[in-house]
Amino acid sequence: MRYSETKPPVFTLTAGPVDAYPEVLRALGKTVLYDYDPAFQAFYENVALKAQKAMGTDTPPLILQGEPVLALEAAAACLIAKDDVVLNLASGVYGKGFGYWAARYAKKVEEIEVPYDTSIDPEEVRSFLKAHPEVKVVCVCNHDTPSGTINDIDAIGAAAAEAGALLIVDAVSSWGGMKTSPDGCKAGIYVTGNNKCLGCPPGLSLVSVSESAWAKIEANPDAPFASILSLGDWKNAWKKTEKFPFTPSVAEINGLDAALDRYLDEGPEAVWERHAVTARICREGIKGMGVKLWPATEEIASPTTTSVRMPDGIDAAPVLAEARSRYGISMSAGRAETLGKLIRIGHMGPTAQPAYALLAVAAMGGALNAAGAKVDVAAGLAAAQAAWEASIDA
Ligand SMILES: *Cc1c(COP(=O)(O)O)cnc(C)c1O
Repeated sequence: MRYSETKPPVFTLTAGPVDAYPEVLRALGKTVLYDYDPAFQAFYENVALKAQKAMGTDTPPLILQGEPVLALEAAAACLIAKDDVVLNLASGVYGKGFGYWAARYAKKVEEIEVPYDTSIDPEEVRSFLKAHPEVKVVCVCNHDTPSGTINDIDAIGAAAAEAGALLIVDAVSSWGGMKTSPDGCKAGIYVTGNNKCLGCPPGLSLVSVSESAWAKIEANPDAPFASILSLGDWKNAWKKTEKFPFTPSVAEINGLDAALDRYLDEGPEAVWERHAVTARICREGIKGMGVKLWPATEEIASPTTTSVRMPDGIDAAPVLAEARSRYGISMSAGRAETLGKLIRIGHMGPTAQPAYALLAVAAMGGALNAAGAKVDVAAGLAAAQAAWEASIDA
């Protein structure tokens, strides 16, 4: 028996977009209220306040109407002025990509780039900023998803703050799945989304903007206004007494509300623990069958994605195809520089559950063997099971 490629997979264990939580899917089907109905305006304010609580900030995050690439580009467009020197930190495809947006708005972009299976050394950032006091903005990706590696944004943020530079953070695939927050890294602009660890379908961005970042945006004559890229347009839109710059995505706001309720009810610490345990079990399973992780050290391995290095001579594409057709399991390929070299197993939102780690290890091992590798699937499953047992009463 094989699973058809033209029918949905049985399990979506990707690194985003992820399978949405059932309560989110139900909320998407709620009545679509008129945006200026007082009931909707009060509801919207309440959702923004829940998002503020979830993100632990002083003011509610902006809710932009597009998946987080919109918010990342908007952050560059609004914060970076024509005469700014920017330091971009690239430890993966997203970090590198942000530099191209920054270059569109900045006078000059400096870059620290490291191999995509490692992460940025905060001390190197500190010394770079000491030697380059002209840097006004530092950009970093927290979890560079196509590599499954984590940058220590709290330490990087401390270095940026000491140098008086504002930090732009891409926390799209880390926030909500691990301990990270706008305040923790002293972010100027901190961007996350609804379609990774929050477990919604793609469509919205959450953006936290600090007071000093607002001051810089408001002093930037080229910051977009009356534009899809404008952050300023949305600054006060969360208040029920204010206008929306344009029609909010009502159904997606309903979905976000359900996701935030779920996150707050379960409790952030419990949610992070669930992601961390699932990832640990998955890593033990992968190593247990004799396959290497992509991150150079396990210390920087993401709790929301396990990135598996393909054995010598094995390309990722046929392995992904075998996992899909033999087991009905969809996983993520690499991207750009990591394409073909690794496969990513997502542990985000609803799929951050230990049982899925076992499924992923079984499918990864079986698919690797079907594609010509020789891995010990049983040993991998035994290691994953042992890690699961160890986590239960820990
Ligand atoms: C998913 C993701 C985004 C959003 O971008 P898409 O490529 O459109 O999904 C941005 N940054 C990171 C780190 C992400 O994982």
